[in-house]
Amino acid sequence: MMNEEIPNLTAFDDAALDVAFVQLGEQLLAAVLDLGQDQDKVEAFRLKWLGRKQGLLKDLSGRWLQAAPAEAKKAVGQRFNGLKSTVETCLNNALGAGPSDAALAAEAIDITLPGTRRLIGAEHPITRTLNEITSVFAALGYSVGVGPEVETDFYNFESMNFPPGHPARDTQDTLVVAGQERRSQRDRLLLRTHTSPVQMRTMESQPPPVRIVIPGKVHRNDAADATHSPIFHQVEGLCVDTNITFSDLKGTLDHAMKALFGSAVKTRFFPSFFPFTEPSADVQISCIFCGGKGCRKCKNSGWIELLGCGMVDPAVFAFAAEKQPAYDPKKISGFAFGMGVERIAMMKYGISEIGQFYAGDMRFLEQFE
Ligand SMILES: [Zn+2]
Repeated sequence: MMNEEIPNLTAFDDAALDVAFVQLGEQLLAAVLDLGQDQDKVEAFRLKWLGRKQGLLKDLSGRWLQAAPAEAKKAVGQRFNGLKSTVETCLNNALGAGPSDAALAAEAIDITLPGTRRLIGAEHPITRTLNEITSVFAALGYSVGVGPEVETDFYNFESMNFPPGHPARDTQDTLVVAGQERRSQRDRLLLRTHTSPVQMRTMESQPPPVRIVIPGKVHRNDAADATHSPIFHQVEGLCVDTNITFSDLKGTLDHAMKALFGSAVKTRFFPSFFPFTEPSADVQISCIFCGGKGCRKCKNSGWIELLGCGMVDPAVFAFAAEKQPAYDPKKISGFAFGMGVERIAMMKYGISEIGQFYAGDMRFLEQFE
C-alpha cells in the first residue's frame, strides 16, 4: 500500500529536496501539535511515522532513497536521517511527558550551599574504661566471657555459694522477674546482680585451664545517689589452673592496677568476705590524687578501696564439677576478682556524680572525644 502523503520525487537537486522535506516537516509539526497528552493519538502517531511495515519513514526510504541517483543518495540520506531523529524526539517527548520545569526547579539542589556536617562519635567513658580494663587482662592472656543479664537463681546465687535463705544474699538487693512462683527456687529468673554467673557458665563449658575477664552490665535494687545506680557495670576475672596461689592473685592485680593507674601505684590487700572465694580480700590502691600523702578524696588515709578478690571457694568448684569433673578442688585451684567500672571511670576522669554517665548530656559526653 502506498502512503498518499509521500509523493514521488522526480528531481534530486538540493532545492527540490529542500522543498520536499520542508513539506514533510510541516506535516510532522501539524501531527505533533495535535498529540497533546492523548496516549492513543501518540500510539497512532508512532505507527504512522515509524511503523515497520507501512510507516511514512519506511515508505520514504523505500521510494526516495532507492529512486535517488547515486550522486544524490548522500543528500537524500542526510535529510532523511534528520527527519527521522526529529520524529523520534517528538515521540519520546510525547511518551515521556517528563516533569515540568517548575517541578524540576523545586527539586533542584543548590550545590553552593555548605553540606550537613555529621558529628563524629566517641566512645562513652564507661565503654572506654571497660575496654581499657579488658585490654590489660587480654595482654596477660585472658579471653573475654559474656553471658545473659536475665539469669537463674542457680547461676547468680546458688552456684556462687549463696545457698537459698543465706543472709549473704541480703548484701545484693535483687530485682526478680515476677510470676515465677511455680518454678523451683534455682530456676527462678532475676536480673543478675554481678557478672559472676558467667564464671560458672564458662567453667561448665570448658575444662581448666581458664583465664577470662567478664565485662558486663549488672542490676541491683539500689536507690540512685551520687555514687550508686540501679544499673552499673563490672569487670570480673577468673583464673583456674594447677598450682594457682594467692601470690599469683596479688601479682596479677598489682600489675593490672599499675597498668590502669600508673606504675607508681601501690596495692595492699585486706581480709574480707565473699561467699564464692576463700580466703577473700579487699584491694586498696595508693591514692592516685595525693600519691598516698592523704587528701579529701582518700579521706586522709592515702588509700582507696577499689576491688574485691580471693581464691575460688572449693564449693564453687564442686558445682562446676557436676558438669566438668576436671574442676576437682584437690587438683586445681584458682582466683577471682571483680571491680566496678563506674567507680574506676569516676576516679580516672574526676567525675563526682554517677548519674552523669547515663544522662546523655552532650556537654558532659563531648569532653571524652
Ligand atoms: Zn588522697
